[in-house]
Formats: sequence, C-alpha cells, structure tokens
Amino acid sequence: MAEPTQQSSPADPPGPTGYGWCAWHQGHAWGVRLIRIDERGHHLACSSCRQAYDLVPLADRP
Ligand SMILES: [Zn+2]
Repeated sequence: MAEPTQQSSPADPPGPTGYGWCAWHQGHAWGVRLIRIDERGHHLACSSCRQAYDLVPLADRP
C-alpha cells in the first residue's frame, strides 16, 4: 500500500483572500479582502475597488 506523500485539503481554508461579495461594486469577485466590520456585518472589497477607493484591508493596517 502506497502512502500519500501530501495531503489534499477537501475545502478551501478560510484565508484572508478568496471569493466573496464585494460591498463596493455590489458583486462577487475573487481576491476580496476584509476592509471593515460594523454592526451591518463584514465589508469586503475586491482588488480593483481597493485601488479605486484607496481602501486598506484590516489585516494590512498597523
Ligand atoms: Zn469590487
């Protein structure tokens, strides 16, 4: 019996980037980052909206 040398994860890890809803252009996009959290929920923005609106992801702030 051969043992697998590497394990494949069945699900995508909940990383800071991924596919999600961009709250700025109101659509789904890849590479969204968490920009803001308030009482209305999590606000994610895609890379193009981050450039257009000069948004800094929460994780990139000091
Ligand atoms: Zn966007």
